[in-house]
Amino acid sequence: MRFFLALIMAMIWASIAMAAPAVNGLRLGENGDRTRFVIDIDEAVSAEVFTLSDPYRLVIDLPAVDFQLDSQGVGDGRGLVRRYRFGLFDEKTSRLVLDLEGPVAVDRVFTLPPQGQNLYRLVFDLKKTSRSEFAKAVRQPHRVVESTASQSNLAPVPSVRAARNQRLIVIDAGHGGNDPGAPGAAGKPEKAITLAAAIETARVINASGRYRAVLTRDRDIYLHLRQRINVARKVNADLFISLHADSLNNRSVRGATVYTLSETASDREAAQLAARENKADVLAGMNLAEEAPEVANILIDLAQRESMNYSARFANYLIPELKNRVQLRRNSHRFAGFVVLKAPDVPSVLVEMGYMSNREDAQFLGSRAGQTQIANALLAGIDSYFAALDREQF
Ligand SMILES: [Zn+2]
Repeated sequence: MRFFLALIMAMIWASIAMAAPAVNGLRLGENGDRTRFVIDIDEAVSAEVFTLSDPYRLVIDLPAVDFQLDSQGVGDGRGLVRRYRFGLFDEKTSRLVLDLEGPVAVDRVFTLPPQGQNLYRLVFDLKKTSRSEFAKAVRQPHRVVESTASQSNLAPVPSVRAARNQRLIVIDAGHGGNDPGAPGAAGKPEKAITLAAAIETARVINASGRYRAVLTRDRDIYLHLRQRINVARKVNADLFISLHADSLNNRSVRGATVYTLSETASDREAAQLAARENKADVLAGMNLAEEAPEVANILIDLAQRESMNYSARFANYLIPELKNRVQLRRNSHRFAGFVVLKAPDVPSVLVEMGYMSNREDAQFLGSRAGQTQIANALLAGIDSYFAALDREQF
């Protein structure tokens, strides 16, 4: 059964991976006489690199990617780069053009594999060259960079799995970037509260030495729900915890709730919440369920059912720990159709830590002490859950 499921998972992820890779960062930096251009991308891709003259340009062709960036196709220059432009070149190619200050050579180009919360980074180191060298390079065949092999001269990047027996927990700070989430008290929207709580939780988990925590985001950036799931898949996570803080018109309602996936949420309030949380992705035109081919649906269903059981078990271990440390809502374990919980092979929960609309909750969640309490409760829940699983294994 285990093998069967693993096979199904491979098929499902292969089909989901057919969606275009997402570029969620383009960065320029200067180091002495070098200028470094970095592409943050959520999948390993190959790139074709070449130069053009009159005016001096560097062209980077990628397979068709989804540029998930705030800037509309143009970025400011730095160092040897005057500015850069990007967009879809043809059906199968996305093109980045770097307008150069003068003749420039590509000194090094390499891919860094995922590390911590960073996804793949495609790195180009540029240096000044002479006009004649540049002209020579223009006539050279295009340089192809395979992203599978790291051509870095840097020290090898340590594997994300620090120790063999360490379990990996992905902590997802809800919302971010131009999706603020629920409006908050004292000018702090939900996205800021979730980020602070996630960072604190990762710190507490890592400090335990028993697990390794990986954040889906460590700064104020927008991530598709699918990207959040992809982080869990890429690091082969043992558990995925998405942190949120809800808001209601009724300001007296307070306390934390733990949600696990349900395809048919019967609770009307839970269904409305799921609709709110999923909205960011509906707007972005992402629907994980629709990306999977119909034939795989029944198989996804089967695998997801097993993950759902594990998720519910984790929720059962987590709730008593939350109860000891933070305010809990009645019916503290609820079921809803959150997209972010749909990784079919990673047990996942979504924790609404409290209500931004309630004064006490907002104060608690906005304080370092409150965030540490939540982090400690999560760690204690993680401990009991894995202790129970280990008892079954031996
Ligand atoms: Zn939220």
